[in-house]
Amino acid sequence: MSQLDGKVAVVTGAGRGIGGRTAVRLASDGAAVAVVDISDEATVATVAEIEAAGGRAIGVACDVRDEESVLAAAARVQSELGDIGVLVNNAGVLRDNLVFKMSASDWDTVLGVHLRGAFLWSRAAQAQMVPGRWGKIVNLSSTSATGNRGQANYSAAKAGMQGFTKALAIELGPFGINVNAVAPGFIATDMTRSTAERTGVDFEQMQKAASERIPVRRVGRPEDIAGVISFLVSEDASYVSGQVIYVAGGPVG
Ligand code: NAP
Repeated sequence: MSQLDGKVAVVTGAGRGIGGRTAVRLASDGAAVAVVDISDEATVATVAEIEAAGGRAIGVACDVRDEESVLAAAARVQSELGDIGVLVNNAGVLRDNLVFKMSASDWDTVLGVHLRGAFLWSRAAQAQMVPGRWGKIVNLSSTSATGNRGQANYSAAKAGMQGFTKALAIELGPFGINVNAVAPGFIATDMTRSTAERTGVDFEQMQKAASERIPVRRVGRPEDIAGVISFLVSEDASYVSGQVIYVAGGPVG
């Protein structure tokens, strides 16, 4: 028996990148997975990969910033797969700029997707977890939570994810729900590729330069994060709650 047999997992922003690998990993751990992304089209490849491997998945279009969209998506997951037991708040965007050039809209977009999205999905999911006294929530933070030039919005959001994680762990622990955060360092995905493109740096060169600064001498892969999330939602981690696990190839801070 796999560790998540009979459980239902929701992964937001699961169309690609870290969310995509996490959805595939949780499906291979036995969960039926709701692959949530901004459009139906964005979910197709991840759902197909899970099904091809013999797993169960549905694609769910949802803008995590939108309350009605999240409530409708959570209700659809419950009716098609069953009560949500695992939630990974992974959807994310960047709108980098120095603070004197940052628009209020770029601030709102980043805080909206990361923090409001995590709040809306966590509130919806815990309502399905509490009656069964079992749940696992994992929030994606970042090493940028400690501050990063050009990322005042993103750093605030990712630091906010850590406080949000701890508050939820305190509130939901009595109901059998563990809440933790994973804070990745440099992971090679479309997100980091777009940063390279925006700053006019070759992506391969950017990874090479980053590798030289990282103690384990490589950049991270989405699978590195998926593996830690798989552990955090496992019974082996049932006494771990309210923690932030940095996954960055070396110490942080
Ligand atoms: P990614 O490749 O850009 O994937 C993010 C996914 O989230 C995309 O599929 C995106 O859809 C989706 N998304 C964006 N806004 C959404 C919304 N409003 N509603 C639903 N889905 C939405 O990013 P990633 O690198 O895998 O990052 C995943 C998470 O890890 C993020 O929270 C990120 O901040 C965090 N993280 C990443 C790194 C890194 O180095 N890559 C480091 C630390 C933390 P679209 O197709 O619309 O873009």
